[in-house]
Amino acid sequence: MTTGIFYSHIFKTSPGPVVGPKFINFPEVLRDVLKFHNVKLFEHEPVSEELLFKFHTEDMVKGLKKKPYAKNAFYSTGACVMATKRIMNGELKNGLLFNSASGHHAGPAHAWGGTYINCVAPAVYTARESLGAEKFALLDTDCHHGDGDREMFKNDKSLLHICFCDSNYESETNVCVGVGWHSTDEDYLNLVREEFVPRAREFKPEMIFHFLGHDTCQGDYGDIGLTQDFFIELVKEVKDCAEEICQGRYLIITGGGSRRDVAEYIFPKIARILASPN
Ligand SMILES: [Zn+2]
Ligand SMILES: [Zn+2]
Repeated sequence: MTTGIFYSHIFKTSPGPVVGPKFINFPEVLRDVLKFHNVKLFEHEPVSEELLFKFHTEDMVKGLKKKPYAKNAFYSTGACVMATKRIMNGELKNGLLFNSASGHHAGPAHAWGGTYINCVAPAVYTARESLGAEKFALLDTDCHHGDGDREMFKNDKSLLHICFCDSNYESETNVCVGVGWHSTDEDYLNLVREEFVPRAREFKPEMIFHFLGHDTCQGDYGDIGLTQDFFIELVKEVKDCAEEICQGRYLIITGGGSRRDVAEYIFPKIARILASPN
């Protein structure tokens, strides 16, 4: 089974808001893993406006069009839709999506913090409409609360949203797990094992989305004390969970974090893990 890597050459010349030019050396830094017979590189495609208008106000989309990072956002969301379809139709087993200007702080009419349209909502909608899929889990391990995603999915009982942030909250399919402002790799991984895995197991999603920010890394802008190797272990953990509960269907979407060296260290290793046999 194939692992899809989704990248846009737009990132070479257009830095992401907040995260900066952290993907400028991609996809070259993935060259070794891209040689694997079961790894395939895809170039992002733009999302259709028609699809975006199902989730966002016209003002928001029009406002974004005027921004220098508009293409980053439209292409990243388009790639999320494409990746999700390819995983759900069995063409790919899992995927790693390099994302910029799109993501978890984008609600229906308001967005901030470097992400200006939502990416998971249009992807879930498309998979349900075109492939008859229903249940999804969305794990958010960025440093910050996924307020936009929460707003998008708060009444969606077929999507389990588990957000690791700075507070605790739980109501049916909406969960926040407080990790505090300081953690160790092991404490955080234990929380994932205790708070995410059993809920996902019980919910039985058909696919897991993972909004993975490395802003929590030491020296990054949301530093809570985690090392670079934490992100590798985290992906191993979630991949094992996906293997167990949803035939390995797992899409990683890059989130916050501006340290280019961290991105260049972790993502080749993460791609390798995705491509490795169970
Ligand atoms: Zn949260
Ligand atoms: Zn963040």
